[in-house]
Amino acid sequence: MKFLVCIKQVVDTSKMEVDPTTGRLKRNNANSIMNPLDLHALEAAFSLRDEVGGTVTVITMGPPQAAAVLKDAVAMGADEVYLVTDRAFGGADTLATSYTLAKAIEKLGTFDLIFCGQESIDSNTAQIGPEIAATLGIADVSAAVGISYEKEGFLTVKRQIGGNIEVLELALPAVVTATEALNHARYPSIKGLLKKDEVEIGNLTAADLPVDPARIGMKGSPTQVRQVRPVVPPKKENLRIEGKTTEEAADLFLSAMQKLKVI
Ligand SMILES: Cc1cc2nc3c(=O)[nH]c(=O)nc-3n(C[C@H](O)[C@H](O)[C@H](O)COP(=O)(O)OP(=O)(O)OC[C@H]3O[C@@H](n4cnc5c(N)ncnc54)[C@H](O)[C@@H]3O)c2cc1C
Repeated sequence: MKFLVCIKQVVDTSKMEVDPTTGRLKRNNANSIMNPLDLHALEAAFSLRDEVGGTVTVITMGPPQAAAVLKDAVAMGADEVYLVTDRAFGGADTLATSYTLAKAIEKLGTFDLIFCGQESIDSNTAQIGPEIAATLGIADVSAAVGISYEKEGFLTVKRQIGGNIEVLELALPAVVTATEALNHARYPSIKGLLKKDEVEIGNLTAADLPVDPARIGMKGSPTQVRQVRPVVPPKKENLRIEGKTTEEAADLFLSAMQKLKVI
């Protein structure tokens, strides 16, 4: 079977900084990582490949430095990796991003299963997987917590709906988005670590893809992020109430609650 996994280089939100003048996120290699749920998307593809055979192709769309996450995917076991990169793709919203990724997937061939993370940690829209499926005209199941390949041409997918587990039979080809509960992501292997710096990364630019220029980058993006600003949570203060008697403490408590407009 042919598997394809979409991975995204994201800003490690624990090290996030915003440029105070431009209001834009500061992105650099020191604070960039693979989106954590993409590790589970990769693991889903690797374990199915281990079970039924096949290849795992991995793509990311981003600036040249996003190649770092493709190398990490190679260390974990990816067979082929592609960087979808061009200035013309810059400033893309989810619609333009998913359109471009879908066109890159079409260019690379036909795949039985496409995996994405359910959502990214730096934009969190959870739209890319379903939008890729819609652009390619194939089915998708979001937020998978379990998968198994039991019948040729179909994937059984479990997902959690509130307190219940929904079991779906999905006709392939399809897109599945992965949650943390889906699996335990594997560590890079020694062989993979040796391979990662020598791997040939395929580059796909706008000129390589059958894209409509009006549907990529800023031109193809109906939404624009104007500014990102850090939100500093209000400082919490403790209030200690001490009265000589229970009645006095109760009165102090009551007036403190009134002052805070709780009652
Ligand atoms: C320079 C820059 C400018 C931007 N400007 C805007 C803007 O003006 N308006 C706006 O709305 N947004 C903007 N964005 C955000 C951008 O739209 C999102 O990063 C992108 O659309 C993906 O959305 P998401 O992370 O919410 O995807 P989600 O749907 O939350 O991601 C789910 C999964 O989809 C896959 N995926 C997501 N992105 C990629 C990718 N790039 N390559 C491969 N797989 C991917 C991964 O598997 C990921 O786990 C900008 C981003 C950048 C870097």
